[in-house]
Amino acid sequence: MNAQKYVIGNWKLNPATLSQACQLASSLVQMDKSVQVGCVPSFVHLSAVGELLAESSILLGAQDVCAKTATTGAFTGDVSAGQLADIGVKFVIIGHSERRAYYGEDNALFEAKIQQAVDAGLTVVFCVGETKSQYQAQQTLVVLDEQLSVLKSVPADKLIVAYEPVWAIGTGLTPSIDEVIGVHRHIKQVLARYAMPTVSVLYGGSVNEKNAAEFATAFGVDGALVGGASLKIEAFSQIVAAFA
Ligand code: PGA
Repeated sequence: MNAQKYVIGNWKLNPATLSQACQLASSLVQMDKSVQVGCVPSFVHLSAVGELLAESSILLGAQDVCAKTATTGAFTGDVSAGQLADIGVKFVIIGHSERRAYYGEDNALFEAKIQQAVDAGLTVVFCVGETKSQYQAQQTLVVLDEQLSVLKSVPADKLIVAYEPVWAIGTGLTPSIDEVIGVHRHIKQVLARYAMPTVSVLYGGSVNEKNAAEFATAFGVDGALVGGASLKIEAFSQIVAAFA
């Protein structure tokens, strides 16, 4: 069985206003989509964007989730997986390199967040990737093995993995296609060992309308996690078309 293809736009801390987020969401709805598209606005824009996407096939995602509970409680500043599910969120990004780098998030925290997400029925988009110095030291696969180890007991139908080399995110740099194919093959071997051979493995890191077609035809690349280019509807629709 082939893995399902996804093109997911991670809006990060963008755009600046609710009306811009709604405008972007409305253009997404009108876009021609022959692949499963996901859209991940910031928390404050989730409800409004979710309403705009409600009649479409686009999946709504969140950028983070509370590690302590899937329901409610005294956790100031947190948003629970149950609250997200209640407003129509289908998946949550966990393990993004920006959370690892800026907030020191680690495997123990990811395991807790994954548990809460799965308990509330959300799918987890789990990000893995090596830093520039790890890449240069040819440590990529060792780093990935350690990062992937938190996924051992996640239900396969609730998981998507995204390979995002940290040095490729927002830099315009990308690994060669052969490197991407090799890493995806390795990730799929690890997932097969965890008895989840059909989990989708997306590539992320400076995907744009010019290089999308090359990634889309690379063996073992089941879609893309797109940051910067997902904020430009023209670029994003070309990326979606490349993976269709
Ligand atoms: P980028 O970000 O496409 O802007 O490189 C990707 C990501 O962080 O998911």
